[in-house]
Amino acid sequence: RQAAFAKLKELPAITKDGIRIALMMNAGLRSDLPALNLTNADGIGLFRTEFQFMVSATLPRRERQIALYRDVLAAAKDRPVVFRTVDIGGDKAVPYMRDPDAEDENPAMGWRALRLALEREGLLMAQARALLEAAAGKTLNLMFPMVSEPWEFEAARALVEKARVRLQKLGKPHATAVRYGAMLEVPALAEVLDELLPMVDFISIGTNDLTQFLLAADRGNPKLADRYDWLSRAVLRFLARVAAQAREAGTPVTVCGEMGGRPLEALALLGLGIDRFSITPAAIGPVKAMIRSTDLGALRLAMKGWLSEPGTDIRARLTRWATTEMV
Ligand code: PEP
Ligand code: MG
Repeated sequence: RQAAFAKLKELPAITKDGIRIALMMNAGLRSDLPALNLTNADGIGLFRTEFQFMVSATLPRRERQIALYRDVLAAAKDRPVVFRTVDIGGDKAVPYMRDPDAEDENPAMGWRALRLALEREGLLMAQARALLEAAAGKTLNLMFPMVSEPWEFEAARALVEKARVRLQKLGKPHATAVRYGAMLEVPALAEVLDELLPMVDFISIGTNDLTQFLLAADRGNPKLADRYDWLSRAVLRFLARVAAQAREAGTPVTVCGEMGGRPLEALALLGLGIDRFSITPAAIGPVKAMIRSTDLGALRLAMKGWLSEPGTDIRARLTRWATTEMV
């Protein structure tokens, strides 16, 4: 099996009916970078910048941030990298930054990610400056975590633009352009997607958080593992709607949650019209193998039927599809 995946490495992620699918990898630390060449990923679709903050004893200074981001961009060469601004809080605790007044009872739904970054402007500005400097001469792809309302995206973008103007005034080399994206992981954002889409260059769906919020099922609680179901009709219908709406607006959509790293779940996503994935490096081989044995046109038609038939068990249908149509 390992040998089969090694051979796959050189082959493109293309469906049986000739549709090229973008298969990128998730990363967060320097030690993840060799996986780029080992997997032949199309880039880094999610770089979790908070990992550097989590493994540090103190707040990483700007120079250390710049050094990391430069290494990431150098390792990726011409391949795109999407940096996500710090997603601190919730399951990603950083002891030296805990606000003693903010003892959240529900940290996942608490003062975290962009909510925290918009209040700690200095933190976001310093990070923006580090990212802009590291991407000197290149386009910086930047996205914000836990956007719940479009104004948060706008406020974050305005801060990054402020950092850009400052660098310009200082005459410091920095990114030639910035492409801005929002993570869609808070269900409420989907209800105002028409208002968000004109503002963004891309969206990235974080199915880990999205699923826990949509189903009110903690992503880390093993007792809820059956309820936390990526193949539930509710999750799939939700994703189908978002994907269709973004496609209509011409906005690229990536799925960067773990859902995309499981072949059966990724098959479901393909069927919903998702054509960009950012997944854990170890999943690239298995997901590419699945893509290469899929007739996308037929799958999309089948998925449309399963989603509209009341009560259809989509996991069962996909499993049957995988054993009969993909041999
Ligand atoms: C997600 O929520 O799906 C996601 C990709 O972000 P994280 O797992 O870092 O919260
Ligand atoms: Mg998330």
